[in-house]
Amino acid sequence: MSDADSPAVKRLADWDGERLERLAEQHDTPLYVMDHDRLRENFDRFDAAFDFAHVMYAAKANTGREVVRTLYDAGADVECAAAGELDRALKAGVAPEDLQYTAVNPPDGDLDYAVDLWEDTPELTITAGAEMTLDRLEARGFDGRLSLRVNPGIGTGHHEKVATGKDAKFGLPYDEVPRVAEEARERFDFVGLHAHVGSGVLSEDLDDHRRALGKVADLAERVGDLEFVDLGGGFGVPYRPDEPPLDIEEAAEMVREVTADVDATIALEPGRYLVADAGALLTRVNTIKETPETRVVGVDAGLTDMIRPAMFDSYHHIRNVTGGDREAVESSVGGPLCTSADVFCTDRPIPRPEAEDLLAIGNVGAYGINLTSQFHSQPRPAEVAIEGDEARLTRRRETFEDLTRLEDEAPGTR
Ligand code: PLP
Repeated sequence: MSDADSPAVKRLADWDGERLERLAEQHDTPLYVMDHDRLRENFDRFDAAFDFAHVMYAAKANTGREVVRTLYDAGADVECAAAGELDRALKAGVAPEDLQYTAVNPPDGDLDYAVDLWEDTPELTITAGAEMTLDRLEARGFDGRLSLRVNPGIGTGHHEKVATGKDAKFGLPYDEVPRVAEEARERFDFVGLHAHVGSGVLSEDLDDHRRALGKVADLAERVGDLEFVDLGGGFGVPYRPDEPPLDIEEAAEMVREVTADVDATIALEPGRYLVADAGALLTRVNTIKETPETRVVGVDAGLTDMIRPAMFDSYHHIRNVTGGDREAVESSVGGPLCTSADVFCTDRPIPRPEAEDLLAIGNVGAYGINLTSQFHSQPRPAEVAIEGDEARLTRRRETFEDLTRLEDEAPGTR
């Protein structure tokens, strides 16, 4: 079986439990485990379905050096939405000509960085979503490859906070684009239109997604003379064990149909689809408390390690790796932080967790480790990559010294 024919989803139940127990023993918990074979499978399946498109990996989903490197080696170019992401992608070994930069309210330093990079690498395309960004680029001497981010006025996806296509923050107002494009042709090497309309799109959202992308395609026809139309990312993964995966062939067919009259290369920037199910977070139970309301299961991972449930009310499946065959009891799993937001689930049936059990939280490869923090003075977790029978530490666990390092190094600290 080639990687392109790999299963559409890797469920939490598919992870080898004994291997997870060994990794937790060896590296301690909380621990991110990234399956690099799965990263390659996800890229190959996506790339095969969208064989008519230029596929870039949206690095914001997981900017870990080894993750970027594996996807780049598999054939993905890399889309970055901040100078820090550009810098990390370069350090991961991505050639500068394989990068694209999407500027969203870019700080001066980010624009300086991108323009410096462009001076050595004229292949770099910069995407701007506000007229003022064009002025700020021009003021820095930039007259290179430019694309315009469009706001189609329709957002899609799993949560209000990611439905960017209808959020005025992102992209030029739809009706302004033809005029701004004309002006951009005078000032830059104007090459493309760009839109990213939402995230977490599953099969039932494809009609909305089609409408949003259709508006971008219409605009592309009106503007004309484009090298590419970049339709962003947004392809979703099933977070619940009974949820069907996105039919990627159907999604590709939709994009093909919607862009049939567009005379330009179609570009895509998937993030989540490539990395989400390649990641699991291992955490150890330290406290059990029976209360009249629920069975409280205290674990050593908290929202500082994985914030999606607190931030987006996201469901993440939880597996009891140690006691998977026990009878399920309603459990509320939460971490060590003093906030009620620090819960991974409430009253969810899980094979009866006991102290010292190892739990795995699924689908954390996207927007997981990138959103970790040191709130509550929690050192960030470690990460291991697994590949075939090999496992290697790709990010060491932070220490208390890491928590104070920036203060220790600051001249004003007493
Ligand atoms: N491209 C842009 C410009 C984005 O802002 C994002 C996510 O926010 C993506 C691509 C990737 O989205 P997803 O992870 O849903 O594929």
